[in-house]
Amino acid sequence: MDKIIKKRLIDFLKLKGIEFFENFSLKEFAAYKTGGKGEIVIFPNSIEKLKKGFAFCKRLGIPFYVLGGGANVIINDNGVEGVVCITKNLNKIAYKCGMIIAQCGVPLETLSYFAYAKGVSGFEFAYNIPGTVGGALIMNAGNNYGEFKDIACFVKVMDKKGKEFVFPESMCQFGYRASIFKKKGFIILEAVFRATARKDKRKILSLMEKIKKERESKFPLEYPNAGSVFKRPEGYYAGKLIEESGCGGLRVGNAMVSEKHKGFIVNLGNATSKDIKDLIALVQKRVYDKFDVKLEREQIFFPEDFI
Ligand SMILES: Cc1cc2nc3c(=O)[nH]c(=O)nc-3n(C[C@H](O)[C@H](O)[C@H](O)COP(=O)(O)OP(=O)(O)OC[C@H]3O[C@@H](n4cnc5c(N)ncnc54)[C@H](O)[C@@H]3O)c2cc1C
Repeated sequence: MDKIIKKRLIDFLKLKGIEFFENFSLKEFAAYKTGGKGEIVIFPNSIEKLKKGFAFCKRLGIPFYVLGGGANVIINDNGVEGVVCITKNLNKIAYKCGMIIAQCGVPLETLSYFAYAKGVSGFEFAYNIPGTVGGALIMNAGNNYGEFKDIACFVKVMDKKGKEFVFPESMCQFGYRASIFKKKGFIILEAVFRATARKDKRKILSLMEKIKKERESKFPLEYPNAGSVFKRPEGYYAGKLIEESGCGGLRVGNAMVSEKHKGFIVNLGNATSKDIKDLIALVQKRVYDKFDVKLEREQIFFPEDFI
């Protein structure tokens, strides 16, 4: 960023009381524990501050990216120029008249536990999915027990011009790891979830724990990873294709295709994002050569996928 523009930005952030850091390591915010620094990283603690920061950046032509829990991203080793907005402090959650209202930075574990505490069923599937409400709605995150499209009622977003909209679920175009928000590059501000399915709290908790146990036994959680690397190709299972292409245990540097769950890549320690990306390309090539199937990436190259 140009020096004068950066100074104006910093003066603005100070004036508006928006917490920020310069050359801030993003590694700690990435599930893979890889990647470089954010030139300016902001932590707004209100939606108003996020909106102000966004509007200022837009006016000055500064790139503005949003990061939730970092559970689905591969952060560039050379870092991110411009502003990275981490939503961690946008974490308000409330229950009102059969609805749960959550800001974009609410962790999914909190959302699920909050629903349980209110005796509301339907959120159990999200208990063990890392990340935040914003990241989950962008991806329509889910598993065999449910997905965000099942519980979302309304989603409040901001478009690239800074205009706010409220989308009812029927207009969110939720699909398999897809939404209109992802397609259009909208920023999720907050969401209203349907919280009308009441159930015995003990049953809710026991399902949450069952799902968690099941997942913990399948996933290679002993190493940093960001969940499934690829989307499920129609008619196949990515993990099976990867296994049958002989990719289990395949390595580039310190990134390795997990032996425990072939759909995951793990960081054995000191891997770089480039190691992970090169390994992804290698797996895609081997699977394509053997099965003629193109594995589509679920994980996001941050920020390249937005440039
Ligand atoms: C161990 C493990 C298991 C996982 N299991 C599952 C699973 O079962 N099902 C599943 O679907 N996923 C799973 N994931 C992936 C991940 O948890 C989800 O994709 C989650 O929704 C990511 O949320 P996040 O806040 O961390 O998003 P991030 O990784 O921070 O960001 C992902 C994308 O969303 C964007 N984004 C984040 N917040 C906002 C916002 N407020 N507005 C606009 N854009 C935003 C980012 O710019 C980025 O493009 C798993 C990951 C791990 C590490």
